[in-house]
Amino acid sequence: MFDNDLNADLHCHSVVSDGTLTPEELAARAAANGVQLWALTDHDEVGGLQRAAEAARANGMRFLTGVEISVTFCNETVHIVGLGFDAEDAAVRQGLYDTRNGRGPRAREIADQLARVGIKGAYEGALRFVGNPELISRTHFARFLVEQGHCRDTSEVFRKYLTEGKPGYVPHRWASLGDAIRWIRDAGGVAVIAHPGRYKFTANEEYALFTEFKGHGGQGVEVVTGSHTPAEYVEYADKAKEFGLAASRGSDFHSPDESHCDLGHLPLLSPSLQPVWSLLADRVQ
Ligand code: AMP
Ligand code: MN
Ligand code: MN
Ligand code: MN
Repeated sequence: MFDNDLNADLHCHSVVSDGTLTPEELAARAAANGVQLWALTDHDEVGGLQRAAEAARANGMRFLTGVEISVTFCNETVHIVGLGFDAEDAAVRQGLYDTRNGRGPRAREIADQLARVGIKGAYEGALRFVGNPELISRTHFARFLVEQGHCRDTSEVFRKYLTEGKPGYVPHRWASLGDAIRWIRDAGGVAVIAHPGRYKFTANEEYALFTEFKGHGGQGVEVVTGSHTPAEYVEYADKAKEFGLAASRGSDFHSPDESHCDLGHLPLLSPSLQPVWSLLADRVQ
């Protein structure tokens, strides 16, 4: 079970955050794609985990609880995936609630900026795509901008809008790295740096991220993810070894129409890496 050949997919999103499928639809799709160990990792939210666990069981998959926590580090947004923690833990729930809390006012500011470049009604428009009112995200604005014909797809949206220096970018302060890791660890789980290849850090800042992550008790890093190039699989396999971190694997699937990497459709972890699920044997449901 706990080998590098396991088809584990430990990163994806449902309608409870910014995915377009329900937890049940994701479970069925993951199982059909041969996933053996699955985790649902909605942004800043554990509201889909009970349904996901039941759907995993119904589809014959092993399951780990999951979440993807938004963190601010060196003035950048970094994502920390938590796996195998107790989703009923009060500190986890309060921490995630506080992290979600700023999203409403932020969304209003995003809409105000878009209105200034002639795109009216973006707040109400984005809300039509939202499954969970506490979790309005840039992805929902991106879907609205595509629907309105401003861009062909969501990738084009993130090149032209919603990112630093572009209309609709609102700097935001999320959770601290130490708090996010502590919530996960103290609830019996493992903290994992999500898609490190995506951050625009200098070499020094990235070194600081890995060092401080370790210092706070973080134990894993995503090596094989839908967000990495094959060259980055190698680069972050080396980083995992350098920092003594276990390796994780996950598609970061959001939607059949938007995601280029489907559930379970990723290269296996290199045999030289310690899989993160080897740390979570007693947490698998
Ligand atoms: P938020 O948490 O509201 O800042 O939204 C972040 C989400 O936007 C990410 O989880 C992705 O789903 C999506 N996103 C960010 N950058 C891109 C990109 N370049 N292309 C497609 N989706 C993106
Ligand atoms: Mn997302
Ligand atoms: Mn992410
Ligand atoms: Mn994600």
